[in-house]
Amino acid sequence: MGYLDLPIREIHKALGEGRVSPLELVEEAAKRIESDDCNAFEAVLLDQARQEAAKIGPFEEDNLLWGIPYVCKDNFSTKGIETTASSNILNGYVPLFDASVVKKLKERKCLLLAKTTLDELAMGGTGTTGHKGKTFNPFDPSHERMVGGSSCGSAASLAHGDAVFATGSDTGDSVRKPASFAGLVGFKPTWGRISRYGLFPFAPSLDHVGYFTHYVEDAAILFNALAGHDEMDFTSSFEMVKDYTAKLGEGIKGKKLLVIQEIIDSIDDAVNKEKFLALVKAIEKEGAEVVYAPFGLELLRSIYATYIVISCAEATSNDANLDGIKFGPYYGGASYQEVMANARTKGFSELIKRRFVIGSFALMKENQEDLFLRAQRNRAKIVEKVNSLLEGVDAILVPAAPSIAPKFNSASDRLSSEYLIADNHLALGNFSGLPSITLPYAFHDGMPLGINLMGKAFAEDELFALAKGIEELTGLAGLSVYAKKEGNL
Ligand code: GLN
Repeated sequence: MGYLDLPIREIHKALGEGRVSPLELVEEAAKRIESDDCNAFEAVLLDQARQEAAKIGPFEEDNLLWGIPYVCKDNFSTKGIETTASSNILNGYVPLFDASVVKKLKERKCLLLAKTTLDELAMGGTGTTGHKGKTFNPFDPSHERMVGGSSCGSAASLAHGDAVFATGSDTGDSVRKPASFAGLVGFKPTWGRISRYGLFPFAPSLDHVGYFTHYVEDAAILFNALAGHDEMDFTSSFEMVKDYTAKLGEGIKGKKLLVIQEIIDSIDDAVNKEKFLALVKAIEKEGAEVVYAPFGLELLRSIYATYIVISCAEATSNDANLDGIKFGPYYGGASYQEVMANARTKGFSELIKRRFVIGSFALMKENQEDLFLRAQRNRAKIVEKVNSLLEGVDAILVPAAPSIAPKFNSASDRLSSEYLIADNHLALGNFSGLPSITLPYAFHDGMPLGINLMGKAFAEDELFALAKGIEELTGLAGLSVYAKKEGNL
C-alpha cells in the first residue's frame, strides 16, 4: 500500500498535514510506472510532473485535487505534448491548446504523469488496435488477458496502481467495459455535462468524457471539478451544477433498481450469472427493492448494428480532416487526392479503414434510408424503451460484461445473444446520453467482474449514492495490483 492507493480525501489530508508532498507522490508513481509492463503509455511525462510538483505553491485546503497525480488518455489534446490517439496518422502532432478537461485539471493543480494508449482513434474494445500494439491487463501477470478498450492504457495504468485517476472517453462503453475487466470504477456522465472540447471526436452524438477511479467517492469529487457548461463546446449543457458528493451517505436502503432480464439470460457462464444474482440478493437484504423486467429481445439484439451504423457514419465524417496535410506525417503526392490517399493508406489500421467503409456506405445517398436513417429511428426506439424502464425506479442494474477479461486469442460468435446483448448493452447509456457507472463486485479466477448502474439524466449525485452503497456492500474498492483486496461477499 502507498499513498496512491488511498481515496482522494485521505491523500488530501496527508498532503495537508505534510506527511507526503506532491513531489513524493510523483516519485511513488514513478516507481510504479517504471515497473508497469502492460504497454499502457504513449508518453511518460515524469520529468514534467516533477517540475510541476516542485513549483505547485502552497497547499490549498479547499481544493481536494491539489497535487493529485493522474494519467490521461491520448485522445485529449495536451498543449505542447504529442497527442496521437494511438494512430500513425497523427504521429508527431503536438496540439496548441489543452482540452477543457485537461485545462480544468491543470487549474486544480493535478499532476499529469503520462498519456495513455488506446484502440486507434478510440474505435474498438480490445486494447489491441493502437499503433503501440497490445495493452495488457495487470491482474493477469501472464499477459494472456486483455484489459479491454478503447481506454486500454488508462484502465491498465490505474489497475496497476500508477495514479489516482485516469481520464477516458466513452462512445459505446470504452470506459465502463475496461473498468469491469480491470476492477475499477468507470464513469461517464449525462451527455453534455462534461465539455468535449479538445477530445478528438469519434462519434459526437455518442461521445462522452469519462474517467476511471479506485473509489466511487473519488469519481464524485472529480465530477465536482469537471461538470459544467463550457463555451468552447456548443453541445455542453447549461443545467445547474450540483455538489455531486452531497448524497454519498444515503446508501441503497429504500431504493428501487431494475435488472434487464434478457441481459442476465444471455450470459453463458453459469458462475458469472450466479455471482450477479448473489449480489442482487445482498442488495435486497440491504433494504433495496430489485425488479426484473424485459426490454425486448429483438430490440436488444439490434443495439450493436445500430451502434456500428451510427458511430461509423459519424466517424468517417468527423475524421475527414485527417488528410495528411493538417496533422501528422506528410507522405506527398501529385494531387490533394493522392496526398490524402497516401496518408490514409499508411496512417490507418485495418479496423479504422473497415469502419470508414461501413460509415461511408451507410451515408451514400442510395443507402441512407435503409441504413443511416433506419439506425437513427431504431436508436430513438431503444432510448424510448430505456426511459420507460427508468420511470418509477432509481436506476438500471446489470452486469457490465458477460465475463472476466477475455484472452487475446479468444473468438466470440458475433451473432450470439451473449455477444450482441451481454457484450454490447452498455451502448444503451450512449444512445440515451444517461449517466452510467461501472464498479467491481466480485472476482472469478483471480480476475475482477463489474456491475453497471445507469441513472436518470443529470442525476449523477443519485447515481454516485447508489454506487457508493453497493461499494460498501461488496467491500471492493481501491483495487489495483498494489492493493489487492478480498471483498465482503
Ligand atoms: N467498443 C466500442 C467500439 O468498438 C466502443 C468504443 C468507445 O466507446 N470509444 O466502438
